[in-house]
Amino acid sequence: MRIVIIGAGFAGMYAALSSARLRDIRGVSPEELEIALVSPEPTLVVRPRLYEPKPETMTAPLRDVLAAIGVAYVQGRAEAIDTRSHSLDLIGADGARRSLPYDRLIVAIGSRLFRPNIPGLAEYAFSVDQLDDAIALDRHLHGLASRPVTQARDTVVVAGGGFTGIEAATEIPSRLRAILGSGTKPRVVIVERNDAIAPDMGAGPRPIIEDALRELGVETRLGVGVAALDKDGATLGNGERIDCETVIWSAGMRAAPFSAQIPAERDNFGRLLVDRELRVTSVPGVFASGDAAKAACDDVGNHALMSCQHATRMGAFAGHNAAAELLGLPTKPYHQKAYVTCLDLGTAGAIFTRGWERKVEMVGAEAKKTKQEINTVWIYPPPAERTKALASADPERVTDL
Ligand SMILES: Cc1cc2nc3c(=O)[nH]c(=O)nc-3n(C[C@H](O)[C@H](O)[C@H](O)COP(=O)(O)OP(=O)(O)OC[C@H]3O[C@@H](n4cnc5c(N)ncnc54)[C@H](O)[C@@H]3O)c2cc1C
Repeated sequence: MRIVIIGAGFAGMYAALSSARLRDIRGVSPEELEIALVSPEPTLVVRPRLYEPKPETMTAPLRDVLAAIGVAYVQGRAEAIDTRSHSLDLIGADGARRSLPYDRLIVAIGSRLFRPNIPGLAEYAFSVDQLDDAIALDRHLHGLASRPVTQARDTVVVAGGGFTGIEAATEIPSRLRAILGSGTKPRVVIVERNDAIAPDMGAGPRPIIEDALRELGVETRLGVGVAALDKDGATLGNGERIDCETVIWSAGMRAAPFSAQIPAERDNFGRLLVDRELRVTSVPGVFASGDAAKAACDDVGNHALMSCQHATRMGAFAGHNAAAELLGLPTKPYHQKAYVTCLDLGTAGAIFTRGWERKVEMVGAEAKKTKQEINTVWIYPPPAERTKALASADPERVTDL
């Protein structure tokens, strides 16, 4: 019997840990129940940190922890699937194609930034979405130091005023001063189509975010979108022109492209619809989790968001349930009541909210301390020690905040 997991992100990592945990609890050997994790690299990309300086350091190795728990790492990219014969087609690191049969498949392929067809966007916009994107932005910011000093050189437009856009924008002033000199006066402008900044945060936390933006001198343009980009700047939908050498695109996510290969129903974000056990509806043997799945997380209408805390716990439930089905054990419905948001606000601190109504619990330096702990400790893989690693993946306890 074999479980195949596609993706080494937060969901894939916890699917591997949790399925191996149940196998271990039942005393089943890796030969009887093989667990294989497929991804292009044997590393976790710590995506929540990609807005920070030194993005090239934002990865964590997974080979040792996978070996410690008896999970086989398969280097490659899933390209196609035959859901009737339960076979996955992979392209290996050497470019060779091979098939990998599965008894249960867990799709944990994550998400990608949505880049609409706006003139100049593909050529001129940077992002903090994937590791390569963040490294390209960082190189570009360092390259500004050798350009003539102009207002446009020191201006950054951030398109999208959601979580990622705000974290990227509030980090930029200190990043640019570190690169261009402490006397530099960076201009940062967030352009947000909605009439309010942080549209998903609601009215409670918004004044704190607005105060932080004021403190940092970050400007906003609300109720308007970026209409075009060129090498000298951005033009907004209302005709306003902002001369700048840097645009960071941060407006919208979609499930990673491989989700389109699964013959199943998807939502507008390309996420696979799953039942409470995280089985992909109407495709036998296939589970989905993390950013690639749309899952109810309670009985009162809340759905998991594209977030680390949801991906981690969904991964743990998907791994458990895939193993449980093969071992003839009862499955567990995924549920996640606790929901917190911790938004970085650069040198203005952070904001920590609890619950779907986003009640503010901490602000400023206190919230920043929690953010730093989340970003440097909580979201990293467990140690490569079998007992500790398996114990970290109890689905009922993962990200129980
Ligand atoms: C800048 C930034 C800041 C963020 N901040 C926060 C935050 O503060 N809090 C929070 O909760 N979330 C945050 N997020 C969101 C969070 O990073 C994602 O929700 C999380 O990474 C989703 O985990 P995942 O495992 O579903 O997918 P990912 O982490 O995207 O991992 C997907 C994995 O699948 C692999 N893969 C994709 N396609 C294939 C294929 N065809 N074959 C094989 N492997 C494949 C990828 O290589 C990767 O290993 C942030 C994201 C960004 C970009």
